[in-house]
Amino acid sequence: MRRFAAVLLICALTSPLTLAADEVSFVGYAPRSSQTERDWESKFRDIPDPANLREYMKRMSARPHHVGSPYDKDNAEWILARFKEWGLDAHIETFNVLFPTPKVRLLEMTEPTKFTAKLEEPALAVDPTSNQKGEQLPTYNAYSPDGDVTAPLVFVNYGLPEDYEKLERLGVSVKGAIVIAKYYHSWRGVKPKVAAEHGAIGCLIYSEPHDDGYTVDNVFPAGPMRNPDGVQRGSVMDFASNSPGDPLTPGVGATADAKRLSVKEAKSIASIPVLPISYGDAQPLLAALKGPMAPEEWRGTLAIPYHIGPGAAKVHLKLAFNWDIKPVYDVIAKIPGSEAPDEWVIRGNHHDAWVNGAEDPVSGQAPLLEEARAFGMLLKQGWKPRRTIIYAAWDGEEPMLLGSTEWVEAHADELRQHAAVYINTDGNDRGTLNMGGSHTLEQFINSVAKDIADPETKMSVWERKRLSDIAAASADDRKEIRQRADLRISALGSGTDFTGFLDHLGIATLDMAYEGETEQGIYHSIYDDFFWYTHFSDNDFVYGRALSQTVGTAVMRLADAEVLPFDFVDFADTVQKYTRDLQKVLKDKQDEIRERNQELDEGVFKATFDPRKPTVAPPREEMPPHLNFAPMENAGEALARSAERYHKALSAKQGALSESEASQLAALNAKLIESERTLTNDAGLPRRPWYKHLLYAPGVYSGYGVKTVPGVREGIEQKKYAEAEQEIVRVGKALQDEASLIDSAAQMLESK
Ligand SMILES: [Zn+2]
Repeated sequence: MRRFAAVLLICALTSPLTLAADEVSFVGYAPRSSQTERDWESKFRDIPDPANLREYMKRMSARPHHVGSPYDKDNAEWILARFKEWGLDAHIETFNVLFPTPKVRLLEMTEPTKFTAKLEEPALAVDPTSNQKGEQLPTYNAYSPDGDVTAPLVFVNYGLPEDYEKLERLGVSVKGAIVIAKYYHSWRGVKPKVAAEHGAIGCLIYSEPHDDGYTVDNVFPAGPMRNPDGVQRGSVMDFASNSPGDPLTPGVGATADAKRLSVKEAKSIASIPVLPISYGDAQPLLAALKGPMAPEEWRGTLAIPYHIGPGAAKVHLKLAFNWDIKPVYDVIAKIPGSEAPDEWVIRGNHHDAWVNGAEDPVSGQAPLLEEARAFGMLLKQGWKPRRTIIYAAWDGEEPMLLGSTEWVEAHADELRQHAAVYINTDGNDRGTLNMGGSHTLEQFINSVAKDIADPETKMSVWERKRLSDIAAASADDRKEIRQRADLRISALGSGTDFTGFLDHLGIATLDMAYEGETEQGIYHSIYDDFFWYTHFSDNDFVYGRALSQTVGTAVMRLADAEVLPFDFVDFADTVQKYTRDLQKVLKDKQDEIRERNQELDEGVFKATFDPRKPTVAPPREEMPPHLNFAPMENAGEALARSAERYHKALSAKQGALSESEASQLAALNAKLIESERTLTNDAGLPRRPWYKHLLYAPGVYSGYGVKTVPGVREGIEQKKYAEAEQEIVRVGKALQDEASLIDSAAQMLESK
């Protein structure tokens, strides 16, 4: 608590951007080195130039550049040449991965009327790259299986497990049906997965105008939103239940001579045929549905009554793919560390896109390049980073993190030993700084955000984020934001390249972007291009510069610190919060089932039954048992004590850090690097051993969305209560080990 008060006082007295240079030392830095670091960082932040970002984007998004395309390779070679031109030691690392592309795509309604879906995004005269038809991938979902199915159609809202519970109440089954689901509210691959679990034989996913079309703003090219023909391509690989990366080489790098599964044996390929469609193609299908009206919250804004089906509407879906092995080109640049070359700070963004991909991924890739150019200049001026810095432009992210996952799997042993932190971005727009990551880095990234100026308001991006969080928060949360020294960072789920680093190897991770002031409905379409970005997003590239400044500063401050700037006070606070959250999840579930069972006893469902709109009463459920959270509660308290002890020990020692011997610092940093690994378990999560982190994982039924303390949380959600209780013990043990590790790090500082 003392630390919070002290930091608050400093913030109140002076704007963080105008702190006298030597007033506060950076965490992990001796005062003298803190001063030197401050000078280098401020030199660095003057370098990134919006004009360069614009040129990089123009070049990289000039043609479609998906995996296996000529321009994907061309971009990789161009990035390599830039890294080299700027004086960095760089190379391309190639992996060979399964990447299906469409051979046959047919969707037609056969009854009650005939309709054939267009499945085509037209070129627009004002948009100069939209006519590159020869190089564009057609609209499809990668890793859908081949299939030829004809069946009645059923509308399933977003296609989440709770939507199917609702369908059951309405007496509608999807067994033997083709479902049509709306995009969003989950990773898209969850939709065919849940549909198949309920017996569906095909799945369509459409972009509803209520979510990213005309309900939000004008449609492209008049505005930024999805037009009637716009389609969201994307992967439907079931990565969350298995693993991301190449489906044929799970757990190992997809090198030329790697042992491969056959396509039939690959577990992460979707189990039923899936196709994404536009709302232009979806409307006639939805309009033909009969059966009960969709619940109000399921309805979109097409000018039709939203029925669920089934009815007379029957559709025929035929899909076939080329199941080819394609190369992915990861471009890797290295700046060797001067004093601790065996401690690595890694920074990445992907370079492949679904089509031209100006927003996704080039708006994140261009700032990465500008950081690399700036580092090249600083090196020539005499900057010598203490640790090794690795810059990575990943290929194959879009199909499902192919380039980064294969690289992580191929280099797993050395990464486990050397990787201190991984920092990811994946695109950038305008607005406030979104910070996600390992909570051991929460205090650190807050400190970086205080030194970056927001291009629009000129306040620090940290202060702008704090104030906009207050504007959006509930009364309780507002109070916490005002009292707490650091803004809470979000826990990471998946859907981008940090997954292998954090979830598989336990490497402390950060993920960042500026967002919130750009509406967009061009995601994964041919219209995500230079024309769209320079009309509707960060058209003067000042937020691109801010991203370069933010991430580059973070990389430098991590790479140069005598002691890695991990802090465990916020981390312990977060872990204790998660424990309380889980207790609440269980209690809410108990309350809900108790109430529902009582209503069944009272006859509530009989009394409210409308024979003209028949519904099925929910089943009586057994009450969830009480679970013993003591192992997590006790570990949380131990962790809080150790964190406070380490924090004090480092503060006390900070002034004398420059007198420490290299071997002592190396031993201490090794422990700090180990702190994220300690939160993993070799056996992995229940039924998905590739995921080894016990605190963060993508949800099996959410995908992008994180499940914190996933073993316990998903155990409760999926009614596997005995498993949840075992997981509490496993998590408690890992947290106790973490507390001991932090104590031993504190002891090293105290005894020196
Ligand atoms: Zn991306």
